[in-house]
Amino acid sequence: MNISLKEAARNLLEAEKIVIASHVNPDGDAIGSSLGLMYALQGMGKEVMVFIDDDIPAIFSVLPGYEVIRRPEKGVEKIRADLFVILDTSPDRIGISGDVVEAHVLNIDHHVTNKGEAEFSYVDSGRAATAEIVYELIREMGREFTGEIASCIYTGIATDTGFFRYSNTTPFTMRTAAELMEHGARPHIISEAMEQKSYAVVKGMAAAMQTIERFCNGRAAGLFMDRELTAGIENTEGFIDMVRVIEGVDVAVLLKCKEEKLCRVSMRSKGLDVAKIAAGFGGGGHVRAAGCTLEMDFADAKRAVMQAIEEAMGA
Ligand code: 5GP
Ligand code: MN
Repeated sequence: MNISLKEAARNLLEAEKIVIASHVNPDGDAIGSSLGLMYALQGMGKEVMVFIDDDIPAIFSVLPGYEVIRRPEKGVEKIRADLFVILDTSPDRIGISGDVVEAHVLNIDHHVTNKGEAEFSYVDSGRAATAEIVYELIREMGREFTGEIASCIYTGIATDTGFFRYSNTTPFTMRTAAELMEHGARPHIISEAMEQKSYAVVKGMAAAMQTIERFCNGRAAGLFMDRELTAGIENTEGFIDMVRVIEGVDVAVLLKCKEEKLCRVSMRSKGLDVAKIAAGFGGGGHVRAAGCTLEMDFADAKRAVMQAIEEAMGA
């Protein structure tokens, strides 16, 4: 059921024990939104836990609260809470986090592909990041921004907007970022931490770049990482940006083959609706940034993705 921002704030205000979860493959918005909301609610004396069913990349250790994020375990007794807040995704992409909690569900998200089917949903696809919505919720609840809250929320906004460069960046984004700076967020510290890569990853990047191929008469290009290449590179953050910058390219793809018959796809575009293409494979996202998982081997996944993009471009 879709509810208003005011109602979402009221749900949060009324709950005493709250569990927060976000999506697998967590990014800066998933982590920043979760921790920012956690600090705001804890500041009101509430009991709050954060679950993410995945490894948390080490670059996020720059954020306060990094160490309190828990990974859910199978077979443990369910945690009874007043509210289970799912951030930055619909409830189907949180791994087993949902299995460890028994509570009313409040889903807060900014993805166009989120249909608002949770018990309570507040989805605003006009916001650049879920962290922007968390900012609005904290204001709606009448709370002040501490340095911790500001740093976490700033990180979510900065990472989802490509550090204020993508087309989802709005005047609201800029005003919010400025206000968060006034409350203690330090952009240079956060961006330096987010950009950091190990020596091995930078060397791996060079190998991955060798796989770039253009298709659709140069209007699309992809980085196609087979199993061996994928296994050797722990973090591909930013790789797709190297495809995006190629002159004439509208759609950029990154394909990673993680296991036999398991490939991850990321897409970015300057115009074409890639959320629609991702949704066609059971994934989703935004018009200009989307992803999906294909249960195919490398060669089939590569062919399927290229074909889907070619069809979408022809249409
Ligand atoms: P990324 O390429 O950075 O993994 O994801 C781009 C955007 O698409 C993000 O907003 C992300 O949440 C969304 N996205 C990525 N993969 C999936 C997926 O498998 N399902 C859905 N629903 N959204 C995805
Ligand atoms: Mn997001």
